[in-house]
Amino acid sequence: MGKVGVKLAVGCAVAACVVASVMVGRRVRRKRAWRRVVKVLEELEEGCATPVARLRQVVDAMAVEMHAGLVSEGGSKLKMLLTFVHNLPSGSEEGTYYSLDLGGTNFRILRVQLGGQRSAIIGHDVDRQPIPQHLMTGTSEELFDFIASSLKDFVEREENVSEHSQSERRELGFTFSFPVKQTSSSSGILIKWTKGFVIEDMVGSDVSECLQQAISRKGLDMRVNALINDTVGTLALGHYHDEDTVAAVIIGTGTNACYLERADAIIKCQGLLTTPGDMVVNMEWGNFWSSHLPRTSYDIDLDADSPNPNDQGFEKMISGMYLGDIVRRVILRMSEELDVFGPVSSKLQVPFILRTPLMAAMHEDDTPDLREVAQILRETLEFPDIPQNVRKLVVRVCDVVTRRAARLAAAGIVGILKKIGRDGSGGIASGKNEGASRSKMRRTVVAVEGGLYTNYTLFREYLNEAMTQILGEEIAPSVIVKVMEDGSGIGAALLAAAAASHSTSSVDTVQIL
Ligand code: ADP
Ligand code: MG
Repeated sequence: MGKVGVKLAVGCAVAACVVASVMVGRRVRRKRAWRRVVKVLEELEEGCATPVARLRQVVDAMAVEMHAGLVSEGGSKLKMLLTFVHNLPSGSEEGTYYSLDLGGTNFRILRVQLGGQRSAIIGHDVDRQPIPQHLMTGTSEELFDFIASSLKDFVEREENVSEHSQSERRELGFTFSFPVKQTSSSSGILIKWTKGFVIEDMVGSDVSECLQQAISRKGLDMRVNALINDTVGTLALGHYHDEDTVAAVIIGTGTNACYLERADAIIKCQGLLTTPGDMVVNMEWGNFWSSHLPRTSYDIDLDADSPNPNDQGFEKMISGMYLGDIVRRVILRMSEELDVFGPVSSKLQVPFILRTPLMAAMHEDDTPDLREVAQILRETLEFPDIPQNVRKLVVRVCDVVTRRAARLAAAGIVGILKKIGRDGSGGIASGKNEGASRSKMRRTVVAVEGGLYTNYTLFREYLNEAMTQILGEEIAPSVIVKVMEDGSGIGAALLAAAAASHSTSSVDTVQIL
């Protein structure tokens, strides 16, 4: 080999070494980055941990806060609002009633025909429409004119095709699922907006009146005779079908719960109510807070960036409006550590771009190569095609976030049962006599409605599993969680019917607080 040949060989060897060391260096860096990403996941898992012991602390905190909210106005972050609903539907209601359900993503108009016998809802028709984004932050008149106009179209369509002609004034139950201070069973003042609505001119106004005026402006002959929120509607439908229903929970865009409380336990209004007996209490549990809730830096950032910081803390960990965005924040954090997601996509910085149904679809992707995960990330966040181990990581993130949400919701439900003595804790004298202790636990039904619970199988499974873990194998079979499809809307029509048949329902009015 001549001199030139030697030089060439040495040059090649040096180049090969450089390439090799660059590659090794890159591999080492990638390994380190991967380790950091895995650490992000591990920290998330740790931060979101919900062992049964912690869930029981949440149960106790919920029961304590419920009590505090019933003792005095402002006594708790739980508002524990009076609804003036004393009588849940009995099943004897008859006739045709309308209802309107405004709760978050969509609004629904329903026409419900009641046959006068329990479980005999002859039929109901539903019109579902999304709320146009600009109306969520406009004026109350714009929002209600839009709703009343859709209502009028629906009535005209329904009554044209129906044989039954409506000679009497139509009765409407209005489900309005935002915090309202009721002044009677058919009227109430808006306390604040949640779930992305910001219509300042309406806070402090009478919600029924806003709707009634818009209905009149459209020349429609219809009276708003029940104002409720979605939880109360769901409880009404649950009770209509099954008298053991004592509470209702909504798990959709937002989350909330209500239950039937003994009048003497509602200390803050003792002596003020004119109608005796139990009353449905709207907890507004989305605002529940306890130091036992497992909170991460992602929750803190999401809250700080939200239009309602320090508000609706429980809702921000549980409901459909937020879960996708928590996942987005974790992926963003991971993508800052590892370039396998590609250069940090600007789409990933956009709040709420990853909607919860998409997150659920990734979580429930059962293709062997997680094809759907890759497709959703590509289409929604403009990610390049990501390798399988990263796809798995994303599924893990969805799992951690959803599992925490479902388990916290389960703890909330058991908290309600504890408050009303239906969690079995008072019924067990000793662990020895299992048959006798089971017989002491009354059958208890909790009605549930909402797109997150009904459409997201893994969420549902995690919630049910946690209920059994908290209550224990012995008590859990006595507690039945039942889905009430369209409960919030049908329930409003049932309560409108109940109000029309008991004119006494409007007696109990406003000597409140
Ligand atoms: P609203 O709460 O507006 O009354 P729904 O009860 O129908 O409406 O709940 C809608 C919410 O449920 C959506 O905002 C979404 O967060 C969640 N959701 C709907 N479909 C799914 C799904 N397939 N998987 C997970 N979450 C879903
Ligand atoms: Mg709803």
